[in-house]
Amino acid sequence: MKDKKPILISQPTLPNLDEFVESLKIIWERKWLTNNGEFHQEFEKKLANYLGVPYVSLFSNGTLALISALQALRITGEVITTPYSFVATTHALHWNGIKPIFVDIDPVYGNIDPVKIEAAITPRTTAILPVHVYGNPSNIKQIEHIADTYGLKVIYDAAHAFGVEEDNNSVLNFGDLSILSFHATKVFNTIEGGAIISKDEKTKKRIDNLKNFGFANETTVVAPGINAKMNEVQAAYGLLQLKSIDKQIKERKVIADRYRELLDGIDGIRCIDDIENVKHNYSYFPIFVDASIYPMTRDKLYFKLKENNVHGRRYFYPLISEFPTYRGLPSSNPDNLSIASEFADQVICLPIYPDLKKETLVEIVSIIK
Ligand SMILES: *Cc1c(COP(=O)(O)O)cnc(C)c1O
Repeated sequence: MKDKKPILISQPTLPNLDEFVESLKIIWERKWLTNNGEFHQEFEKKLANYLGVPYVSLFSNGTLALISALQALRITGEVITTPYSFVATTHALHWNGIKPIFVDIDPVYGNIDPVKIEAAITPRTTAILPVHVYGNPSNIKQIEHIADTYGLKVIYDAAHAFGVEEDNNSVLNFGDLSILSFHATKVFNTIEGGAIISKDEKTKKRIDNLKNFGFANETTVVAPGINAKMNEVQAAYGLLQLKSIDKQIKERKVIADRYRELLDGIDGIRCIDDIENVKHNYSYFPIFVDASIYPMTRDKLYFKLKENNVHGRRYFYPLISEFPTYRGLPSSNPDNLSIASEFADQVICLPIYPDLKKETLVEIVSIIK
């Protein structure tokens, strides 16, 4: 695939331009650009309805949603989390002055291992911050049990889990709060954007105040809030995206199924299977390269793909616990994180997006073969 346009890990799907122009005309007429405008209100309602959740609070991005979720629940002290995620998960703790405590992941899906959570709890622990990595649900029941037993809050970083359901129920309905990201590279994008999913009106109100400097009304500031509001242009864009998201996820499923079929039987390459009672969103297609069986290391394969114009990504390498800000923490010791280290050494996320052509996919697999 030399001399062609690079095949990137993801390519955003955009709404119909004519329809978007129509929305823009409405915004131009209304001259209401941000601060809970009509498109914003409509998008929150339609999104809650689509996702099957009680309340959505829109944000300007997922990171600010996560930082604000921790503020909303007044989380302090230590929070148990995973090193196998995008760095924003831990950064959100850092920005709140919270100490991250890393625990290892499960060997199949790469989600936080509930068995290891309990051993990491101290008197200073206030919450658990798991991630539904690649959109595969964390072990929600066990996490809930631990949280209930020890009186801890749970905030899910559900940035990968848009539309994911387990037993016909959105995974966003679990824990105290969940956050989403609508960044351009995610399954559902509003260019930049994010949301907090909450379960009761009071909590939603508190979150909505926080994202608007803490204003509860014109003159009352109830918390040291931030500016993390989504604007009308993005909300209008998001409303249009909702029209095609089901189709997009179906197209992603076809691609994931085809990858699995073609990669089947290559020694040393592992894929993650679908889970029977889960509705997946096919946000990522990770493969794991076992260099003791496959003829080359993960990095050799990664760069070989790159030479051939295929730009996968090593999500998540390096582990968050290896970055300078966090590597000095006792829980960052690699001995504590052996499975996460193995995942980080083996993973390549292959290109997956609705417009990925069948021929391109076949070529990608043939390079791996
Ligand atoms: C993308 C992502 C975020 C951050 O979301 P932004 O909208 O880019 O700020 C946080 N956590 C995870 C796991 C992500 O993948």
